[in-house]
Amino acid sequence: MKTGMGFKSLTEFVDHFKDEATCREHFAKIRFRDGEYCPHCGHSEIYRFKSGARYRCAKCKVDFTIKTGTVFGESKLPLRKWFIAIYLLSTSSKGISSVQLAKQVGVSQKTAWFLNHRIRAAMKQNNGQLFGSVEMDETYIGGQEKNKHRSKRTSGTQGRSVKTKVPVIGLVERGGEVRAEASDRVGMRQVEKLIVQHVAMGSKLHTDDWGAYSHIGRLFLHEIVNHSTGQYARPGGVHTNTIESFWALFKRGFQGVYHSMSRKHLQRYVNEYAYRWNIRPGDLQDVFSDMVNRVSQSNQLSYNRLTEKFA
Ligand SMILES: [Zn+2]
Repeated sequence: MKTGMGFKSLTEFVDHFKDEATCREHFAKIRFRDGEYCPHCGHSEIYRFKSGARYRCAKCKVDFTIKTGTVFGESKLPLRKWFIAIYLLSTSSKGISSVQLAKQVGVSQKTAWFLNHRIRAAMKQNNGQLFGSVEMDETYIGGQEKNKHRSKRTSGTQGRSVKTKVPVIGLVERGGEVRAEASDRVGMRQVEKLIVQHVAMGSKLHTDDWGAYSHIGRLFLHEIVNHSTGQYARPGGVHTNTIESFWALFKRGFQGVYHSMSRKHLQRYVNEYAYRWNIRPGDLQDVFSDMVNRVSQSNQLSYNRLTEKFA
């Protein structure tokens, strides 16, 4: 969605969206990009009141605002605060904690937590398949192990244990996008499912020598780097360094910004980091409007669902 706006800093952004009316106008352009319509009956003939804030449908005669029927309409927050939160979360490369977000946006920490999850949920992407040289690897995210009492901690959980850690399997196209999924278990079946879903035929897969990757060669060209014998790259560009730098970014965020990610929310955090990885620097000016559009349509994630206990 091209808007032609380039924001070089938060200050520029905040200066541009100086009041609620400006934010409403911007959201109207996004929401009605294919023509105006009534959110109650879908009719395309609507009138706008002079104040600019309200509309009325010519057919069903019901009044509405630009926020009606979207996430923004369900919340009492001004659009401007939503916009600032969306901007911050889309552009902070390491992520932003609820505490920081609360301070910057000027809302309570509880509201910031809700905003954070709502925006993160909208970051789920459904892009095309990866193609070319694709690296695949998995990592293990440590739940809240460090918060447990010493006697309840399990030692020796490094590596490929899923007892206290949640596996995340990732794929990255060199010079391209990343796909990553948290999973309850990781084995041949999960590996195969992800490859079929995310990798175009004719690609070349790079993995380490773990057993779950051993059948890839039946479907794709497959290059293996023998991590188990201390080998990290082979001549001809055989390595998994790209996906490992994504894991490094993700783990820095995990440790430095969010401290812990519950199992229940882990996929949303994974989506957040993948989303930012997949944004090209030149796209930044359009990222914001794209996110506003996504967030506005993410009605299904209610506060109750977010706070339900993880079963
Ligand atoms: Zn109507």
